[in-house]
Amino acid sequence: MTRVIEMTPPSSAPAEAALPSLVGLDREKLGRALETAGVAERERRMRVNQLWHWIYLRGATSFDEMTNVSKHLRTRLAEVLSLARPEIVVEQVSQDGTRKWLLRMPADTPGEKPHEIECVYIPEKDRGTLCVSSQVGCTLNCSFCHTGTQRLVRNLTAAEIVAQVMVARDRLGDYPGRERAVGPGLPTEGDRLVTNIVFMGMGEPLYAYDSVAEAIEILSDGDGLGLGKRRITVSTSGIVPEIERLGREVGPMLAISLHAVRDELRDVLVPINKKYPIEELIEACRTYPPASNAKRITFEYVMLKGVNDSPADAKALVKLLEGVPAKINLIPFNPWPGTQYECSDWETIERFSDIVFRAGYASPVRTPRGRDILAACGQLKSETEKLSARERLALRAMAAAAE
Ligand code: SAH
Ligand code: SF4
Repeated sequence: MTRVIEMTPPSSAPAEAALPSLVGLDREKLGRALETAGVAERERRMRVNQLWHWIYLRGATSFDEMTNVSKHLRTRLAEVLSLARPEIVVEQVSQDGTRKWLLRMPADTPGEKPHEIECVYIPEKDRGTLCVSSQVGCTLNCSFCHTGTQRLVRNLTAAEIVAQVMVARDRLGDYPGRERAVGPGLPTEGDRLVTNIVFMGMGEPLYAYDSVAEAIEILSDGDGLGLGKRRITVSTSGIVPEIERLGREVGPMLAISLHAVRDELRDVLVPINKKYPIEELIEACRTYPPASNAKRITFEYVMLKGVNDSPADAKALVKLLEGVPAKINLIPFNPWPGTQYECSDWETIERFSDIVFRAGYASPVRTPRGRDILAACGQLKSETEKLSARERLALRAMAAAAE
């Protein structure tokens, strides 16, 4: 059964004149925040390291927990700064253990509507993957993606990206000494519940390059959250010039939303293809600095009935990826109200996956997760753009039919 927990009513007023939060800041910004709190320059580096440990390694939610910081300084910090996380508007737990949070970020300017974004936790036996958003909405309008239909768009800050991970770990009790969440589907192996991060939520991460790069440095810091870059995957629709830069400057794993093997079709499905066509995209992958046979690039391919799912497409896909250290991920299309597409039949997906498998790619089909809470790919859409009651019913019916 799906459990839907309403944490705070969506209509609740944003907290007034909240103190600036330290959560999600990098070392430099933490230092500047300490400066505003009057911490002398000579002790700032040491204090930054202490705060880093408490915030990111221990998940502290109050300055009082920071026992190696003097009482006097703790009191001072609490007067002018906070450890606040984004507000959780709704938490949903799927029957398969997938969890989805709708988070509210403060508005940029007073009087403006606050921004709402979603992040999704996908547990497996030996790992837990958090799918984070990089933008509110997306400007790219891929024709099969629900997020692309959202009007409101802004880049998230690095702090807002990191805060999604903090919220998930808070709610899962995923810090040393905390009570770990229990429930069906959660990982039973290893001592961490969030082990991997994928930038596959709302938005195009390479259009929010600076925030994403800064967030990855914070997430992968070994003295803090400790999510190594091999455990962080950035998924892009193919912003070619930023791919090389990401590899060189940051070095996470890469996923490409390919979805078509011919430019005429990809121009329709992923319109940014008109600017950066398939050949240029594949070349950027071939030369992606961190890629190797041990660190393969994932090619995502959404299965659309009668559109891109023929055996000829599968063969062309295998051919296209020759010489690229690649993994292939076939994603059953997740329908949404108003979409013109349907998911390929199961037999068609199997036939396609067989061709890919015979070419040497292991288990290429991604099982849809969290369908009952609309947490699956492309269904992430902020509540800011309310679905009508009819749309909700239609979505639920489609999700049920797809089971
Ligand atoms: N903007 C980035 C990352 C977010 S989308 C990108 O496009 O890569 C994450 C993945 O979900 C992408 O591969 C995207 O193509 C896929 N996706 C979007 N809508 C979908 C849908 N309705 N069904 C299945 N996959 C979808
Ligand atoms: Fe944006 Fe990715 Fe959706 Fe395309 S698939 S509209 S790039 S979120």
